[in-house]
Amino acid sequence: MIERELRASQVDVVVSTSALELGVDIGSLDVSVLNGYPGTVAATWQRLGRAGRRNRPSLGVLVASSAPIDQYIVRHPEFFLGRSPEQARIHPDQLLILMDHVRCAAFELPFQDGEIFGAEDLSEMLSYLRDQGLLQYQSGRWYWIADSYPANAVSLRSVTEGNFVVIDIDAGKQTIIAEVDYSSAPGTLYESAIYMVQSQPYQVESLDWTGRKAFVRKTRADYYTDAIDYTRLKILDFFDERCAEQAASRHGEVHLVRRYPGYKKIRYYSHDNIGYGNIHLPDQEMHTTAVWWQVHPVALAQALPQRERAIEGFLGAAYALHHVAALRVMAEVSDLGRAVGDGQGTWFAAVGQDGRGQLRGPDNEPVAIPVGGHFEPTLFLYDNYPGGVGLSEPLYRETHALIADAEALVAACECNGGCPACVGPILPGDEQLEQSPKAVARLVLGLLGGVGA
Ligand SMILES: [Zn+2]
Repeated sequence: MIERELRASQVDVVVSTSALELGVDIGSLDVSVLNGYPGTVAATWQRLGRAGRRNRPSLGVLVASSAPIDQYIVRHPEFFLGRSPEQARIHPDQLLILMDHVRCAAFELPFQDGEIFGAEDLSEMLSYLRDQGLLQYQSGRWYWIADSYPANAVSLRSVTEGNFVVIDIDAGKQTIIAEVDYSSAPGTLYESAIYMVQSQPYQVESLDWTGRKAFVRKTRADYYTDAIDYTRLKILDFFDERCAEQAASRHGEVHLVRRYPGYKKIRYYSHDNIGYGNIHLPDQEMHTTAVWWQVHPVALAQALPQRERAIEGFLGAAYALHHVAALRVMAEVSDLGRAVGDGQGTWFAAVGQDGRGQLRGPDNEPVAIPVGGHFEPTLFLYDNYPGGVGLSEPLYRETHALIADAEALVAACECNGGCPACVGPILPGDEQLEQSPKAVARLVLGLLGGVGA
């Protein structure tokens, strides 16, 4: 109806989500105003292009939010204006993705012995599907025999199976109001979490982990919730490395264990932290690919003799890198993860309840920052999907440009000692430190900048 009224010039302005971005012909609009950077060059042009059809002049306005990506874009408009739209990153031979495709292909037509899919030899995969009861092998051909229609189980948005459903239990009824993919569920659907559906806050009353259901009710709470995330990474293997005098960068495979020990309650508008709650959920584990950077211990000790400040510097650098990396690979910030640890799972750094960077050991218990001995913090950016979908390899390849982007983001930020638009939230008074969070993050980025030059 809105579309019809727009075309008939009966409405002047439409406020919309990304729903109007694609596929709807909304006729002759003059101005489009974007509330925040849509996240990709392609989506930005798509939305700006909603105005000025049929060769008419038009105006496009981008109102930047305080998010690091938005701040980066407005300070570096050439990043947006000078680039062709990104290439979406997906690795078609990734095991889980390939398996889905092979399932769907086998449903349509039987595979023959020796047939390949892309460059992959399929014999092992077809045998696996036979063992699962999906295929039958008969005189050189693999026939689909299962009752199911495999494409139904393939999500175009994520590689994990088994979404959680969000069920509104108000007024004694049960209404499904949303679906959340498996990997996002533990951080968003824990008991007492505030979950937003179309800007209406709901509170999770209970979570049925095995049944993949979250039961929610509308709430009038004046806060939202933010899960505390403890992520430990262990390096399993690396595929490639680049070493410079002061630092090195590697690309490889990691094992990840994530726990959400609790959540923060944060008041709307003021963003004050007004309380905490506990989360009781099993640890999440996955194998994925990552890119990581390490600074030579001697170089680090020279640049940042206080290890506490060094940890702060790594956390701030990771925050900035994470945001510019998402921009580079056309991903959402949540498609990538970041972590700082020693790479062996002995300790990892997290921001504690007091807002300070602290170290935690293998069982997530707080541990002291080691005095003396080998100290080599590792900064990870990892592909936040089981098996990895191909996001970390280009980050490794473009490590030099990536570090330069992060340095530019932090350097151009107008804050004094650090803020959520560059190195992450900082504690009041920290900007007065001789080495502010922003200064130490810049030192770390400077050390990493030598890699891949
Ligand atoms: Zn800042």
